[in-house]
Amino acid sequence: MDTRPPQDGRDPRAPRPRPPRGPFDAPDPEAPTQLGIDPDAVPRIRRPRTKVLPVEQRRGPDLAAYLGLALMVPASISSLVVMALIGSIAWPAQAWVIPVLWVVSGAVVLIPAFDSLLARRLFSMREPSARDLQRLEPAWQSVCRTAGVNPDRYRLWIEGSQGLNAFAAGGRTVAVTRRALELPPPMLEAVLAHELGHHVHGHARVSLLGWWYSLPARGAILLVGLVAKGILAVGRSFSRHGGAAVALASVLLVLLLAAAVVFLNPWLLLIPVMAPVMAAVARAGEYRADQAAASLGYGVALQDLLKGWVAGSGGEKRTWRARVLASHPAAVDRVRRLRG
Ligand SMILES: [Zn+2]
Repeated sequence: MDTRPPQDGRDPRAPRPRPPRGPFDAPDPEAPTQLGIDPDAVPRIRRPRTKVLPVEQRRGPDLAAYLGLALMVPASISSLVVMALIGSIAWPAQAWVIPVLWVVSGAVVLIPAFDSLLARRLFSMREPSARDLQRLEPAWQSVCRTAGVNPDRYRLWIEGSQGLNAFAAGGRTVAVTRRALELPPPMLEAVLAHELGHHVHGHARVSLLGWWYSLPARGAILLVGLVAKGILAVGRSFSRHGGAAVALASVLLVLLLAAAVVFLNPWLLLIPVMAPVMAAVARAGEYRADQAAASLGYGVALQDLLKGWVAGSGGEKRTWRARVLASHPAAVDRVRRLRG
């Protein structure tokens, strides 16, 4: 369950958002299609009895959201440089227009219509059918009622992947996979409560902004990579026919391009350091979303679901390195935290 895209730093070449956030966001760990859950032992929801709910008291961006914002600065600066270059080439007389418009565009991606566009076009989500809504809507209404949140503020979607997963994306998108819809109601509510936690604590918006503001830098890197591949292919072709000078020139040209990319994107040099930090911040957001769900009474249901997740996927198999770079904590660690 979760929103993962925008806020990564692991593959700067891919100008695609990370999958939206969720407690079970694939691909780390890979979402199982079956859970090891005993259907006769469905947990009960323990609703909080306090008048002011914890999720209400602590609504608004949390530390994970602010750290996520800070970590998107280096790539955003590189993107600004790329847009300034484009502006100076495309419209030299008014070179400031394009970079300024791009900076302002960050506000545009937060409008609800853009959320729907992203959900439909980029994440290939679809609107729930009447049958889907029979399961999804009561669960969502129940979670929002407990949290004191207006359910109509968010839009529900179905995500097409096979595994059990859910996502919070942008400002208003909440999506579940079909497999998640088959969960017993308390567990489906626990999943949705986790996603609501991502929204109320600002993780999903920061994720979207980080993705958006890194697009020009990532696009430029991707473009230069493609050009470099083409140059190397030409060089190899010449070297096979005795054109050693052309082959050498192609290698030198590619090195020059690589130097230009690093000059425009000095943050690339920091990726070995930044990637684990970004992953740690993302994992902190996951723990926080779990905490939000637990504060609404879904702690036991979430624990049981995560235990089923572990059983269904055959246990935690990731290497130490994969766990350090993962945007999601191991399910066993999440259960441990939820137990407190
Ligand atoms: Zn999550």
